Amino acid sequence: MESSHIDGTSSFGRFFLPGPTEVHPEVLSAQDQAVIGHRGPAIKELVGELQDGLRDLFCTENPVVISTSSATGLMEAAVRNGARSRVLSLVNGAFSQRFGEIAEACGFEVETIEVEWGQTITADQLRERLAQGGFDAVTVVHSETSTGALNPISELSEVVQEQDDVLLLVDSVTGVGGAEVRTDEWALDFVLTGSQKAMALPPGLAFGVASDRLMARSAEAPRKGVYFDLVTFRKQLDNLQTPNTPAVSLFYALAKQLDRIRLEGLQARWDRHQAMSDRCVQWVDMMREQQGVALSVLAPEGFRSPTVTCVALPEGTAGPSVVSAMRERGFTIGGGYGKLKETAFRVGHMGDHTVSELDAVLDALGEVLS
Ligand SMILES: *Cc1c(COP(=O)(O)O)cnc(C)c1O
Repeated sequence: MESSHIDGTSSFGRFFLPGPTEVHPEVLSAQDQAVIGHRGPAIKELVGELQDGLRDLFCTENPVVISTSSATGLMEAAVRNGARSRVLSLVNGAFSQRFGEIAEACGFEVETIEVEWGQTITADQLRERLAQGGFDAVTVVHSETSTGALNPISELSEVVQEQDDVLLLVDSVTGVGGAEVRTDEWALDFVLTGSQKAMALPPGLAFGVASDRLMARSAEAPRKGVYFDLVTFRKQLDNLQTPNTPAVSLFYALAKQLDRIRLEGLQARWDRHQAMSDRCVQWVDMMREQQGVALSVLAPEGFRSPTVTCVALPEGTAGPSVVSAMRERGFTIGGGYGKLKETAFRVGHMGDHTVSELDAVLDALGEVLS
């Protein structure tokens, strides 16, 4: 990677992977502070400050667990603490499939509702399956990073609420910080994200909020292990600390980023992400209608993630060649994920990116594809 990127000086606006995301120089350099111990007044002050910002970000009154792990750690925590025996896994891409596989690996019985990649799960599909009974938790991915599809989480949550004792576990890794997420209002039982996606921090932290219902399950969960025990996390959080040594340098970056998010305003941040998604869609339409290049956005209108767009390529154009032609022009974009590798590419437009930076990427893509 170019050294100017590492200095954080001149190259911001060239790195558009759908995670990890480009980190703003101000956030990157906030890490350059003395390491402190994880017991005592200094860490309490820092964690207290982080809690205020994180609660606002998740739209919750509950404490926000900070895990020194990647997001996968809290996916595992979600099922280990929140499931009893039978999990319904909603699958519409690679990450949602992985969520179900994690539940299986943790010893739970897993059934799936699977739809085509790019599509989303409907309330009716979920209602019908839950009516058959026997499930105690549902896993879902909010923004499916492999396809750019956005599941209607608040509607799915309403359906789950119709059941007596079923919990909804939400991976919002490319949602929180870029897409509207209202943890309490939508009655979500567990919402998790990782630091390196829409929050645009360096990788290494994950964040999660648990409902009271989930915490009651956790207190009785037999297979939750040690590192991801949410009861322990919450007990330590009551005292503004973490169960074990946290990545404190990343906490400094987080504090800076939460300040920046507060200054921008959450609604403005959501709007900025939506504007970037809309811009990608406009560009795809323009390429098709004016340049005759048969591109299409994989996810249907109304169900597109504000943080990542997956663009399907015309036959005969290989995804990896688009990615490498962009690299030659100094831009990093995402390839198609898994089975979409050859037929699509992805642009991550999240974190601190703006429409004008995105325009430069789209201009270069236009040259590559014309
Ligand atoms: C990136 C991603 C993950 C995995 O995150 P890690 O931090 O690599 O563990 C899970 N779910 C979604 C939707 C993602 O985008």
